[in-house]
Amino acid sequence: MRAVAVHPDAIVVTSLLWQTNAIALRAGGETMLIDSPYFPDELELLPGVLAQSGFEPNALLATHGDFDHVLGRLAFPDLALGVAESTMRRIRERPGEAQRELRDADAENYVERTRPLSLGQVQALPVPGQLELGGEELELVTAEGHTPDGMAVRAPWMGVLCTGDYLCPVEIPWISTGGSIEDYRNTLARLAPLVERAEAVVPGHGAPQSRAAALSQIDEDLAYLDALERGDARPPLPKGRDTARQREIHAANLRTLG
Ligand SMILES: [Zn+2]
Repeated sequence: MRAVAVHPDAIVVTSLLWQTNAIALRAGGETMLIDSPYFPDELELLPGVLAQSGFEPNALLATHGDFDHVLGRLAFPDLALGVAESTMRRIRERPGEAQRELRDADAENYVERTRPLSLGQVQALPVPGQLELGGEELELVTAEGHTPDGMAVRAPWMGVLCTGDYLCPVEIPWISTGGSIEDYRNTLARLAPLVERAEAVVPGHGAPQSRAAALSQIDEDLAYLDALERGDARPPLPKGRDTARQREIHAANLRTLG
């Protein structure tokens, strides 16, 4: 697990699983933690790692309902978890999904966990919308297509844009159950002008990106979505993402959409 500051008031902690990012944003003495690392020791160390840099979360957010993003309460059991209304709907429609998928991932990785995942108190937040943090306003932006639910989180006063599982430099666009190419394209179109105004773009997986890098990824991802829509079996994948694992994700995309 590594921690990188993208702003004096924004720190990104990256899990060893899939480079999953947890992002702490601070304003006016309050701290919001977005998403989570995965491994039990990472979750155990997280409060200390954040506290060392002066971040002590008062609340949790998850960009979407996938299990690898909703583990914050395993590190901060007393905090409530805020999610988009769309994510709350998904949690209600598919009860126990995150817990099941976490158990499957743990079994696959031989990970033992002393505590089972409980989402605890979950708060549905209107998206698009705003959320107060220490006298500043976080902007919640609809981000769907990877899954049927989700949001990006923007901290305009510090130029930080947290995109959830969009614009991940380590992953091609992944259309999982309930997602769609159309929603994915709409999300990229919604994010583009926000990327233009960002100093740091922090994805759900992979290193934070500069504005220029994130903008060129939008073009690469749109080109990939076009190829996916055509049903290309072996489209060119973007530089740095042309791996066996990304080919598997492409094959899964074709199955999901087929
Ligand atoms: Zn993810």
